[in-house]
Amino acid sequence: MDFRLGDNADSLRAALRAYLDEALTDEVEERLYRSGVSHDADFIGGLIDRGWFAPAWSEDLGGAGLDPTSVMVIFEELNRREAPMYATSVSLMVAKALVKFGTDEMRREIVPAVLRAETICVLGFTEPEAGSDVANAQTRAVRDGDEWMINGSKMFTTNAQLGDYIYLLTRSNPDERKHRGLTTFLVPLDHPGIEVQAVHTISGERTNIVYFNDVRVPDSARIGDVDGGWSVLTASLMDEQMASFAPWIVRLLEEVEAWAAETGRIDDPGVRERLGRVAAQVEVALLLRRRCTWMDEEGITRNVEGPMAKLFSSESLTQASQDMFDLIGPDALRSYPDPEAVRGGRIEYMMRFALGTTIYAGTSEIQRTQIAQRGLGLPR
Ligand SMILES: Cc1cc2nc3c(=O)[nH]c(=O)nc-3n(C[C@H](O)[C@H](O)[C@H](O)COP(=O)(O)OP(=O)(O)OC[C@H]3O[C@@H](n4cnc5c(N)ncnc54)[C@H](O)[C@@H]3O)c2cc1C
Repeated sequence: MDFRLGDNADSLRAALRAYLDEALTDEVEERLYRSGVSHDADFIGGLIDRGWFAPAWSEDLGGAGLDPTSVMVIFEELNRREAPMYATSVSLMVAKALVKFGTDEMRREIVPAVLRAETICVLGFTEPEAGSDVANAQTRAVRDGDEWMINGSKMFTTNAQLGDYIYLLTRSNPDERKHRGLTTFLVPLDHPGIEVQAVHTISGERTNIVYFNDVRVPDSARIGDVDGGWSVLTASLMDEQMASFAPWIVRLLEEVEAWAAETGRIDDPGVRERLGRVAAQVEVALLLRRRCTWMDEEGITRNVEGPMAKLFSSESLTQASQDMFDLIGPDALRSYPDPEAVRGGRIEYMMRFALGTTIYAGTSEIQRTQIAQRGLGLPR
């Protein structure tokens, strides 16, 4: 058993770190912080030029065709620096569904535009009564000849204010059982009848509620079969099943170590004990995620390894950020851009950011349920 990732991974990591140091200037960080939007066209352009934008996509579809370990290293580094990737990562996830289930026109026009980062797609799944239980979606799509009429609302539609399309889950057949009466669409966000309203979260991230009032779309906007939306959706959510927040814990540890060195508290046994605890969490979180990559490389079907990586990393990040906050004391309350903020407010921000990580991409309760049922074989 060899836990090292190898020379190729090490040099790729070094190249990424050099690019991130150069591209993520104070000015870019400031803009991202103030807007609460994780997207920067120039930054993404740099990733495209270097082949790091869609590393897992095959070359014939416009990606870099890299192996799973290289892809993992790229995301470890991008996420460790909180690179502005959210809007384009979600768009790539949507594009993947379009490759599989979309129309020829979607594959010809929209997928390449997403791979050039010229088109942004957002996820329109969650509703006030359909979050974890996403199949309970009530946004209604009614067929009218060659068109569909859509009415309803979607919650937490992150980046809808800058997006071009929403990947929309609707209820097309209320008479069918819940999972069977769903249909998905790709709807332009500038369509008449669509209203986007801002929702600001505790982390500073902007998300939205999107309202649909008599939105008429042609049948060519449909993705997959009528009433077949559940299969489209579950295939699309596969990527989310492997979300890991390990790189954020790495960053947190680096920041607190730097704070301890700067303030001379690095020799304090209490500080060392708490840093040691976070270092162990970092290691486990990274290894759980790396195990998923190893399984992909070996062609082994993942079962609960993705949920374990997501659950452990998000809960560790939440716990570690609160513990580090407590360690630093009242000064940790100062937030960016206060010049007195500890480590530029990074630790204070991390504590707020961590809270959402146990909610999106499947809440901790849902991850635990999956582990209990699929992993341990416990009854539903
Ligand atoms: C910052 C942010 C960004 C987001 N971006 C998007 C986006 O772009 N597009 C999108 O569609 N959605 C997005 N979401 C929504 C996200 O996917 C949902 O918040 C998530 O699925 C949980 O749904 P909910 O908020 O309705 O909570 P609920 O599902 O109502 O859950 C409430 C509580 O009950 C628990 N619970 C629910 N069901 C069960 C169960 N069966 N067993 C045990 N416990 C249960 C949950 O774990 C949670 O603690 C975003 C959310 C956040 C916070």
